[in-house]
Amino acid sequence: MIGRELGIRSTTISDLVGQLVARDLVHENTPRSRTKGRPTSILSFNAQRLGAVYVTVTDQSLVASAVDLNMRTIGQVIANPPPEADNNNLVQSLRQLIKDAARYFPPGMENGAIVFSLSGLLDVPGKIWCVSSRWPRMRNLDLGQAFGDLGPKIWLIRNLDAELTGISQAEQHGEEETSLLLHWGHGIGAAYAVGREVVNRNRGRFCEIGHWMLGNGQNRQCTCGNKDCLETVAALWAIGPRLAEEFPGLPQNEREAAITLARLDLLDSPVIKSALSDMLRLTANLCRLLFPDRVVLTGPFVQNPDIFRKFVDTLAVAPMLRSVDKVRVSTGDAHQSAEVSGALSGPFEECLAALVSREV
Ligand SMILES: [Zn+2]
Repeated sequence: MIGRELGIRSTTISDLVGQLVARDLVHENTPRSRTKGRPTSILSFNAQRLGAVYVTVTDQSLVASAVDLNMRTIGQVIANPPPEADNNNLVQSLRQLIKDAARYFPPGMENGAIVFSLSGLLDVPGKIWCVSSRWPRMRNLDLGQAFGDLGPKIWLIRNLDAELTGISQAEQHGEEETSLLLHWGHGIGAAYAVGREVVNRNRGRFCEIGHWMLGNGQNRQCTCGNKDCLETVAALWAIGPRLAEEFPGLPQNEREAAITLARLDLLDSPVIKSALSDMLRLTANLCRLLFPDRVVLTGPFVQNPDIFRKFVDTLAVAPMLRSVDKVRVSTGDAHQSAEVSGALSGPFEECLAALVSREV
């Protein structure tokens, strides 16, 4: 059947399958058959032949997961370094996390990569985590140097670039199709892609819109060290505590806040009104700059139907855009599966190619 699909001779298929079986990437089972003739064998992909440790940041936490070739998380560990943590503290936390996550790999499963999907400013070619507003005392953390001795190859990608890569793969964006990902949550940021190519992905710096200056004269301190950035009036870290006064018990982490915010009547809230107005203006301006075919909104606030509707309405009537095709606005999934697959697809491809070319 595979031969017919691909137009390859059956002897070649048997040879290729044999190579995959020899490398334990494919399991071949031959059920006992009562009929005579050649028995049919059942092939199954061994998704636990190898995996990766995937490290990311959510809210104020570091999360490390053991992930298999099906992008399934088989185990996860979390650490909460305090905001005053420096390079040494973070290296210690991360080292422990990576080792603990790797313990979830079952016997026989190879750890092929350690993949960091991080927020803030990165130097992707140098594998350096330059700046993070969550841990302001951390500067230029060299991930390659700090964790190279653990064995697997170290990879680094900006988390929003990983998420947009995953979304464009899953939704099969066309070659010329342009998409803008806007994350409004603990922090605020964006990524932009043409087809499946995320702009500046190989550098790790782009669209730091959360730290665009508003010049509103409020003199609010931002986590980046400057004053009156967009985040100071709209990010969850800044407005979460004030929202909790209006909506008692509102969780301060993205995942739980998303569930609560989706059910609330938010449009009468003065805090939300002001944050939303800044977010809408910014998104409309980004659209005038980048002219995306699609806008994908992620984070807890856009899970609220009224807020999502405001984005759709604003982008539909943005005056400059009236003459061009309508922008398609959607929300990304809240479970980070796009970020995981976007971050790991490249490393897994390389690991599999190395495994297949390895002598057995
Ligand atoms: Zn800032």
